[in-house]
Amino acid sequence: MSGLSENQSETLFGGDDVIEVASVVFNRPLDQPYSYRVPERLVGSVRPGQRVRVPLGRGNSATIGYCVAVTDQKADVSANPTGFDRSRLKDVIGVIDDPPLIDRSMLDLTKWMASYYACSWGQALDAVVPAGVKNQAGTRLRTCLSVPEEIRAAIPEGLPHKQAAALAVLIASTEPTGLDDVCRMAKCGPGTIALMRKRGLVLAVKRRVREVSEAEADEPLNDEPERAVRPEPTVEQAEALAKIDPVLREGKFAVFLLHGVTGSGKTEVYLSAIERVVATGREAIVLVPEISLTPQTIRRFRRRFPRIAVLHSHLSDSERHRHWRSIAAGEIQVVVGARSAVFAPTRRLGLIVIDEEHETSFKQETVPRYHARDVAVMRGMKLGVPVILGSATPALETWRNAELGRYERIALEERVGARPMPHVTLIDMRHEKPDPEHPVGALSVPLRIAMTESLKAGGQVMLLLNRRGFHTYVLCPKCGGVLKCDQCDIALTHHKGRRKLICHGCDRETAPPSICPACRRSNLHYGGIGAERLERDVRLAFGDRVIQRMDSDTMRAPGSHERVLSEFRAGRVDVLLGTQMIAKGLDFPNVTLVGVINADTALHLPDFRAAERTFQLVAQVAGRTGRGDRPGRVLVQTYAPDHPAIAAAVNHDYLSFVAGELKIRRDQGVPPFGRMARLIARGEKELQVREYMNRLADSLRSAATEGVRLLGPAPAPVLKIRGLFRFHLQLRAASARPLQDLLRSVLPENPAPRGIELATDVDPISML
Ligand code: ADP
Ligand code: ZN
Repeated sequence: MSGLSENQSETLFGGDDVIEVASVVFNRPLDQPYSYRVPERLVGSVRPGQRVRVPLGRGNSATIGYCVAVTDQKADVSANPTGFDRSRLKDVIGVIDDPPLIDRSMLDLTKWMASYYACSWGQALDAVVPAGVKNQAGTRLRTCLSVPEEIRAAIPEGLPHKQAAALAVLIASTEPTGLDDVCRMAKCGPGTIALMRKRGLVLAVKRRVREVSEAEADEPLNDEPERAVRPEPTVEQAEALAKIDPVLREGKFAVFLLHGVTGSGKTEVYLSAIERVVATGREAIVLVPEISLTPQTIRRFRRRFPRIAVLHSHLSDSERHRHWRSIAAGEIQVVVGARSAVFAPTRRLGLIVIDEEHETSFKQETVPRYHARDVAVMRGMKLGVPVILGSATPALETWRNAELGRYERIALEERVGARPMPHVTLIDMRHEKPDPEHPVGALSVPLRIAMTESLKAGGQVMLLLNRRGFHTYVLCPKCGGVLKCDQCDIALTHHKGRRKLICHGCDRETAPPSICPACRRSNLHYGGIGAERLERDVRLAFGDRVIQRMDSDTMRAPGSHERVLSEFRAGRVDVLLGTQMIAKGLDFPNVTLVGVINADTALHLPDFRAAERTFQLVAQVAGRTGRGDRPGRVLVQTYAPDHPAIAAAVNHDYLSFVAGELKIRRDQGVPPFGRMARLIARGEKELQVREYMNRLADSLRSAATEGVRLLGPAPAPVLKIRGLFRFHLQLRAASARPLQDLLRSVLPENPAPRGIELATDVDPISML
């Protein structure tokens, strides 16, 4: 033996033994990776991005974790103090996913998410992989049979008839064949096969196969709709594309803010940009708010791209699994979906588009509390892929990033076809006289008259009221109390059609009491106007018209949303009224009047973004009219006509709104100036929650670096939801980093005691 090979055998088997070590993270709060030894039988088959089964904790219970790295380590500590002590490392039990579920870039992105959103890597990873993929929905383990070589070589003679038939079937097939297929073809039962297995005539293996459900078998994966004719781009669209084009061609990271008024043809710009990407064999992800994933939107994409996957929340686990696999296999050109589609496992991503980027539904309100827009920008940066953010009313954070030059703003200031923006008129409800025909109605006289005119001229009308139910509160005129939910610090809403008082915090229903349950002295006063009451009022005034309400109460049945929209489009509905469900993204050319019943619903919420939300809602709903050949009109009922958010929305004047609002935000030191993190603790015992938050605040204060401000703790604006008391505190700093560092150092030392749950929200959207 040469010296060389002796040396080799020593490094392999001697004191410097090398073992494979897998780093594994778990779906639990704030954890570090754990190291496991890869046992000999698994060496080479454990890879990063796989789920693995490993023993965890004192009881060594088998737990699923995500393998994030595999390294070679010296085994012997005595020989190498930095090495691992083989005897102390537990062994990986088994590998779950082969091939790995998660690729390198997604590992990298989730690692960033964990550090940015102050959660664990395992929690971030768990959010990326849909449940249907994790449980392999729509597939099953099938027993398949094959014939061992030695039997094939010398087929035993004198077998019973059925066994011989089964063997013949198997020998004829080149692949292992399903048990049921063999039985069918050989006309034998499973008993016959069991006997043959015992005698070693056949081998059984388990294989995972896709189960084709009947509905799925009928559904053409991508029916071929007629191909769309591409419209000639407008001058502004052409200019926008000219700016995006070079970046697409080079394939590098850049963020564009496509700031275009409603109806300016933003979607057309996305479609053209995606076409360029797809033409070079790359893929695009398009995020839209869940509420905008209408058949109309989907059709627009289908007509331009044959191979698209639509990921919406109504997909079954097995459909989601199937889409995920075809995206990962590179079979899809364009992924259109809501928030979580930002994690679509594309192979050659070339572009990410986020439509209506200001929408709050892009923020996930459970762990990990990520914002899909910001994750998209980070994914684009890591992959060197451009990102387009589109909106008529960009979020102030996005606007600020454009101001600072981080994003490039591209403006579309004109509607397509030089259609004018609709004319918006305010109705000052403080001075409106009650309508003599309907004195307590939701409609003011000017709005009722405008509706009559529009309908008479053959136009359609949309009415927005962002409140569900009939009466929005129930009050005792004697004691002044407002009826609240037992479990929540929330006023009950009267749903008249269902004869119930319903809590919109926890959905509990109670029968409306006839007298005040608190003082028992008086009948109750029912007040406030919700969408159900608006519908009643519109029917009273326009009984001969077809009226349809659209809110989460009337749109419970699957498909009802689409059905109503297509009825409306076909002109079979005259008045469509509803909550914000009708405000967003819809494109109905025949709508000539939009009425906003109460523009102030969000204005007085204790949320620093209240004005921004109000501006966005009014501007968006106003954008639903005047999209056809006839000009549109908007009437806005308000008690605060002078509020800058409402005044600016009337003039479609985003620029003056942001100018004023940014000044206020800067003075208050709230985003987009500086960053914020919010901690919310909840538990059944109010005092215990308060005390825990006080302790946590003390720890945070003493560990805080200069420039970090702590506000609170204080009771949350909604103190109680579902029987749990809520306290919160806020951390603010000029940048996110010191906040994240502080959370990472203090939270593990101050775990919530039993009975209390702590939520950490970096860049919070919800402030209630
Ligand atoms: P946005 O997304 O900005 O609201 P859309 O892309 O939906 O605007 O465009 C508004 C309407 O104008 C749509 O009906 C669309 O088909 C049409 N449109 C868009 N671009 C063009 C164009 N270049 N030529 C003709 N029609 C267009
Ligand atoms: Zn409740």
